[in-house]
Amino acid sequence: MTHDSASTGVKRIDADRSDLVSLCIAFAAIGLFIAIGGRVIPQVFASLTGTGPAPDKALISALLLNIALIVLGLHRYRELLAEVRVRMSSENSARMLAQTDPLTGCLNRLSFSDATDALINDCHGQGECVAVIMIDLDRFKKINDYNGHKIGDELLVESVRRIRSVMPERAVLARLGGDEFAAIVPFSPRRSDFIGQIAARLNAALAQPASLSGVVVHPSASVGIARSDGNADPASAQTLLHMADIAMYQAKREGRNCHFWFEGAMEEELRFRTEMEIGIRDGIVRGEFVPYYERQIDLQTGEITGFEVLARWNSPKLGLVMPDTFIPIAEEIGAIGALSESVIAQALADAQGWDKSLTLAVNISPLQLRDPWFAQKLLKLLVEANFPPERLEIEITESCLLDNITVVRTLITSLKNQGIRISLDDFGTGYSSLAQLKDLPFDRIKIDRSFVSGLEHDVDAQTIVHAIALLGQGLGLPVTAEGIESADILERLRQYGDIKGQGYLYGRPQPASAVNADFAERPAEETAAVTEQGPVRRASKR
Ligand code: C2E
Ligand code: CA
Ligand code: CA
Repeated sequence: MTHDSASTGVKRIDADRSDLVSLCIAFAAIGLFIAIGGRVIPQVFASLTGTGPAPDKALISALLLNIALIVLGLHRYRELLAEVRVRMSSENSARMLAQTDPLTGCLNRLSFSDATDALINDCHGQGECVAVIMIDLDRFKKINDYNGHKIGDELLVESVRRIRSVMPERAVLARLGGDEFAAIVPFSPRRSDFIGQIAARLNAALAQPASLSGVVVHPSASVGIARSDGNADPASAQTLLHMADIAMYQAKREGRNCHFWFEGAMEEELRFRTEMEIGIRDGIVRGEFVPYYERQIDLQTGEITGFEVLARWNSPKLGLVMPDTFIPIAEEIGAIGALSESVIAQALADAQGWDKSLTLAVNISPLQLRDPWFAQKLLKLLVEANFPPERLEIEITESCLLDNITVVRTLITSLKNQGIRISLDDFGTGYSSLAQLKDLPFDRIKIDRSFVSGLEHDVDAQTIVHAIALLGQGLGLPVTAEGIESADILERLRQYGDIKGQGYLYGRPQPASAVNADFAERPAEETAAVTEQGPVRRASKR
C-alpha cells in the first residue's frame, strides 16, 4: 500500500468513528427529548391553562439543551453527508485515473486486458466471435517532432474521435501507449465481412487531413486484425492482441495506411526478424560486421585509385549476409551508427598497409547524418587510425538531402573543412534538384548502377549517362560510374570523358585478406595486369 492510500485509510476509519458517535449522540438526544418532553410539555400546557403549577425549571433547561443537541447532531449529519459525497467522487476519479488514459478517455493497457477477457468470455458464451483491431498512427513521431506536442496530443484526441465514429457501440477501445490503440469488437459469425468493413472505414477515417489549432496535418494509420472463432477457438485477449500486433507490423511493412489480417506465416517472419535484430546487436559487439573492398578505377589509365568499403555480416548462423538485408534493420533499431563505425575503424586499419595514394570511400546512412556528433566521431576514428582525412571520401545518397538540407549542409561543410571529401551516391535515382547539386559542396557524383548497366543496349540510359557526365564537367564535379560489368560498357564510358568507374568487370568486392594477397602477388608498383577487357593497373602494397 502506498503512503497516500494508507493515510486515506486512516482518515476513513476516523470518519467512520465520528459517524457512529454523532449518530449515537443524535439518537440519545432524541430519546432524551421524548422522555423529558413527555414530562415538561404537559406541565407547560397545565401551567398555561391555569390547571397546574409552573413547570420545573431544571426540566425546561434540560429540554432546551436537548433541542440544541439535536440541532447540533443534524448539522453534523449534514456535514458528514457532504464529506461522504466528496469522498465518493474522489474515489471515483481515482478509479477512472487508474483505468483510463487521461488524454483520450480510452481505457489504458492495464484495464483493457481485464475488460477484454470479460467481453471475450461473454461473447463466446453467446456463440459470438470477437476481433481485436490494433491501430497504430503512421509517422506520428514525425508529426509530433515537427509540430510540437500540443498538436500531437490534439491529433491523438481527434484520432480517438474518428475511431469511435466507425466502431459499433459494444466495442471496447483502449490506448495502449503512445500512438497505439486497440479495440475489441464482438461480431456475429454469420457476418464475417463486418470486421473487414470496419477496418476499411478506419483507414479511410484516419487518413483524412486534420486541422489542429490552425495546423493541417495529414495522418494515416496501419491496422492489424486478429479474430477468435467463438467456442471453436477460444483465444485469450493476450494472444489476440499479440496476433493483431504482428498483422499491424505487416501493414507497416506493406507501406502503411492499410490493414492486414493475422496469418500464421507472419509469426514466422516476425520471429526471423527478431532473431535478425538480436543477431545484429550482438554481431556489432562481437565484430562480425566486416569491410569488403570494391576497386575504383581511373577508366582512362586503368589504375586503381582506391576502394569503396562495403559492409558484410559474417553471421555465425546465417553465413555471409549482404548489406541490403541488414542495413535497413540496423537503421530501424538504431544500430547503424555503431555498425558503421566498427566497419570504418576496421577499414582504416586495413588501409594502413596499402599504398598511400589509395582512397577509401565509405557509405553513410541518412540517419547517421542526423547525429550531431557524427563529424566528431568520424574525426576521432581518423585520428586513432592515423589516417589522413584527404584519403577518406564519404558517400551520401540523395535521400539525405530530402528532409534536413540545412543540417546536411552544416555537416558537409564541417567535414570538408577537415579535408574529407563528399560524394553524391546513386545519382539520378532520387529527387535532388540541380540547384542543390550546385549549392552543396560535393566533390563527386556517382552515376547509379541502373543507368550504367543499360549502356549496352538502352538508348535512354546512354543519353542519361552522357548528360550526367557533361553535367559533371560543367559543374567541375568529377564523376564515377558504378556497375561496370562489361568491356562494351567500359568503352562507351571512356567516350564520355574523364570518368572514374567501378564494377564487377574489375572484380567483385573482396575481404582485406584477398586485397592483401592481390597486392602481394603483384608487388611492383604500376604493374599492368592485362585483363580480357582492358588493362587494369594495380597500386602496390606499401
Ligand atoms: P552502393 O553504395 O550503390 O554500392 C554498390 C553496390 O553495387 C554494392 O552492393 C556492390 O557490390 C554492387 N556492385 C558493384 N559493382 C557491380 C556490378 O558491376 N554489377 C552489379 N550487379 N552490382 C555491382 P552491396 O555491397 O550489396 O551494397 C549494397 C548497398 O548497401 C550499397 O549500395 C550501399 O548503399 C549499402 N551499403 C553497403 N555498405 C554500407 C555501409 O557500411 N553503410 C551503409 N550505410 N550502407 C552500406
Ligand atoms: Ca556507395
Ligand atoms: Ca551507389
